[in-house]
Order: sequence, then structure tokens, then C-alpha cells
Amino acid sequence: MAEPGARERIESSLGESGFALPGSLVWRSTACGKAGCHCQDDPPVLHGPYLTWTRTVRGKTVTRKITEDQLAHYQEWFDNDRKLPQLVRELETLSLRAFEQAEGGKSR
Ligand SMILES: [Zn+2]
Repeated sequence: MAEPGARERIESSLGESGFALPGSLVWRSTACGKAGCHCQDDPPVLHGPYLTWTRTVRGKTVTRKITEDQLAHYQEWFDNDRKLPQLVRELETLSLRAFEQAEGGKSR
């Protein structure tokens, strides 16, 4: 059974959502490739870790660094992008139940 008010909760969450930034945030450590740099030592001491934002634009992967300040400012936008599909899936589940209740479980 659907929880009471599930539809209202989902609808208000969808309605109140702010911006949503696509892509993923990943911490990365890198080697620059310069001879003599500590990242070329054995064992290597890599640069970073840096927080990077990766997304796909017209089939190409686009990556940019995100500073701590930017993360603090935009964290909610990144979170919203994960929450919205989850809310849509919940709404789809409720909608399927509503359809089946109204129309019966079997197709005619
Ligand atoms: Zn290096």
C-alpha cells in the first residue's frame, strides 16, 4: 500500500526542487608526466586529490575542477540531480498502482 500522502510529498518535492547539475563528482589524483616531478617517483606521490566534475556533452566527456568553495555553493544542485530521478520513479510506481486500481490488473 502507498503511504498516506505519498503523492503529495513527491509532488511538493518536485515542485520545490532548485537547479540540478548533471554529471558526477569524483576525487582524482593525477600524474603530470613531467620528468623529475614527485608524481614520477617510485612509489609515485600524485598531485591532488582534486574534486572533478564529469559530465557528457553531445557524447563527449567534459571534466572540470571544482573548488571546496564551489562545492559548498553548488552541492545542493548536484544533490537535486540525484533526487529528481528517484522522485520520478516513486511517482511512476504510484501512477502504475493508480492505473491498475482504476483499470484492473489485466490488459483487455
Ligand atoms: Zn607531477
